[in-house]
Amino acid sequence: MTLAARLSAIDEKIADSARQAGRTPEEITRIVVTKFHPAQLVRDLHALGVRDVGENRQQELTAKRAEAWDLDTRWHFVGQAQTNKAAAIRRAAEAVHSVDRMRLADALHRAAEHDVLDVLVQVNLTQDAGRGGTALSDAEELAEHVLSLDSLRLRGVMAVAPLDEEPAAAFARLRTVADGIRRLAPEATWISAGMTGDFTEAIAADATHLRIGTAITGPRPDRG
Ligand SMILES: *Cc1c(COP(=O)(O)O)cnc(C)c1O
Repeated sequence: MTLAARLSAIDEKIADSARQAGRTPEEITRIVVTKFHPAQLVRDLHALGVRDVGENRQQELTAKRAEAWDLDTRWHFVGQAQTNKAAAIRRAAEAVHSVDRMRLADALHRAAEHDVLDVLVQVNLTQDAGRGGTALSDAEELAEHVLSLDSLRLRGVMAVAPLDEEPAAAFARLRTVADGIRRLAPEATWISAGMTGDFTEAIAADATHLRIGTAITGPRPDRG
């Protein structure tokens, strides 16, 4: 299958899943995760109408954005971030989905130049503290901290479903956290959830932003 065929097949599935959940496809943003692929893929996707791409490593994000500088692509950072990379991430991304601790929020804020940066609080839906994300019970406190930093715009929440649990059950917990945060910040409406294996369940749980890699790009070269 060609890239164009894979993209349109996934977009059809997204639209079907949205309608089955009583939603409209227009309320869902499909981010194509291009990690490990060359910048040329971002160009090929752009030619097919894709404007939102995701990366999970700062160096790769920075390099690809520089190579694709002439495109009006929006870059979403979705990976675990070291605080010493915060300034570089901020320069290269329109949105950071993976704010999982106050120190990272502070570092992103300190790196501000003039634009406001869209950020999401990443929530860990597993029992394993080594996976990315803040504990469910700390998510609102982290959201309040982000709200206190005026160069950051809190947009909502992000999570990756655990490997050993039904995604629907995990996404239901995310939905509860999202509701709590929206009570603090009504404009924080994004729910970033759903990857190649579980985007249908994420749509049913009200995800607004899907992060889809391999189903659209094909297998990741070597490191993937
Ligand atoms: C790689 C990645 C994705 C996309 O994964 P696929 O299973 O290839 O769709 C989504 N979210 C994050 C955080 C990722 O690192």
